Amino acid sequence: MALRLFNSLHRRVEEFTPLFPDAESVGFYCCGPTVYDFGHIGNFRTFVFADLLRRYLEFRGFRVNHVMNITDVEDKIIRQVAATGQSLAEFTGQYTEAFLADLATLSCLKPHFLPKATDYIPQIIDLIQRLEQRGIAYRAGDGSVYFSINKYRACGCCYGQLVTLDPEAQRRTERVSGDSYDKDDLADFALWKARVPGDGVVFWDSPWGEGRPGWHIECSAMSMAILGPSFDLHLGGEDLAFPHHEDEIAQSEGTGLQQPGRPFVKHWVHAAHLLVDGKKMSKSLGNFFTVRDLLGQGFQGREIRFLLISAHYRETFNFTRDGLEATRSALARLDATVAQLTERAGSEVPETSTPPSALEMSFTEALDDDLNVSKAWAVIFDWVRETNAALASGSLSPSAAAARLQSWLRVDGVMGLGGRPVAEVPAAAIALLEKRNAAKAARDFGMADTVRNELKALGWTVEDSKTGSKLKRL
Ligand SMILES: [Zn+2]
Repeated sequence: MALRLFNSLHRRVEEFTPLFPDAESVGFYCCGPTVYDFGHIGNFRTFVFADLLRRYLEFRGFRVNHVMNITDVEDKIIRQVAATGQSLAEFTGQYTEAFLADLATLSCLKPHFLPKATDYIPQIIDLIQRLEQRGIAYRAGDGSVYFSINKYRACGCCYGQLVTLDPEAQRRTERVSGDSYDKDDLADFALWKARVPGDGVVFWDSPWGEGRPGWHIECSAMSMAILGPSFDLHLGGEDLAFPHHEDEIAQSEGTGLQQPGRPFVKHWVHAAHLLVDGKKMSKSLGNFFTVRDLLGQGFQGREIRFLLISAHYRETFNFTRDGLEATRSALARLDATVAQLTERAGSEVPETSTPPSALEMSFTEALDDDLNVSKAWAVIFDWVRETNAALASGSLSPSAAAARLQSWLRVDGVMGLGGRPVAEVPAAAIALLEKRNAAKAARDFGMADTVRNELKALGWTVEDSKTGSKLKRL
């Protein structure tokens, strides 16, 4: 069977096949962050999903060329640069670094390319000039350059490939910036924005005078510069489908750079929204979390990752604290099984080219089905149960244990939970355990209980046995 994915372009699940079967790698672009603040978990749902799809494509034998852009010029950024007095590069640099650190915390593989919009100004200008030469872009009285949807349609192109457009709704939902517009049609969007006093020092020279690029053209320029005018996969949050992605298609295909019959992108894949406690995340509701907020509350990156990939990417996901806490026991079960397998395998090394195991085959079947993670988790936890039973019965030989372990590591290469066979115990917890042992020896049971509670607050519990006491993760 082959991998099937929902393609937003055709509104149906389709088999994933590369656009160029002989190409060395699959071109994979995901719209990245706008770096004016720390990323929140709603943003990271999309990025963790993109990481899962990339890892699964690699598991299925594809080489992936993963590109994620960094939007480092935009209205909010310009306002903050003016307010803080920092340079554009300083201001966006700190949030870009923070974003990459958060991505690593969530065990996301680093994209192969992380282009910044401000490094692609010549390519952006080149695309706008091409659109101008073809009569699709025009300069308005305010000095800005706009994309004409009517002219684009007149060339025989379709605007409205990802969404069925209702012209009235289109006007209502259009992303309107604070800039004053002087365009021919309300639906037209800016490719180049003429410099206004509020832009401060953030501007570039162009054939149309000083100004800066529109947001949509940045992604067309960066994706095509790195992956070529036609590529395989474009991902993003569902809120980007319109107008951002629709405009990307229009700008990119409007240049006529694609070979006849080739689209800009073959498969468009969108991840659904994330709610927190059933509501849209907002700072005023107090349900707004960055990855850093959750780490500060004692959660781990792998727990957040696990929760974010516990639901299907096309389902709206309800993120709750209870849900996040529940990941602990599930991960602890998995870790305990992996730890026992490691112990049983000992120094046994599995053969390097073992055929896919039953676990891998069922896992593949689940994820081939439009990344059906619920099915994949069911397969994984059935395997945990069955492995525990085999371990308990003593029927698992060291070489069989080593083979199972290898099979799990292949599966975890996709899920990215980073099997932790032996939990690292923090020094603070070890110190508390020693304090409790001393209290017990002195028969100060009140103190021993107090210390036990302190350990609990750190996420650890004590297990006493004849051979002594040991720490266990809660
Ligand atoms: Zn984009």
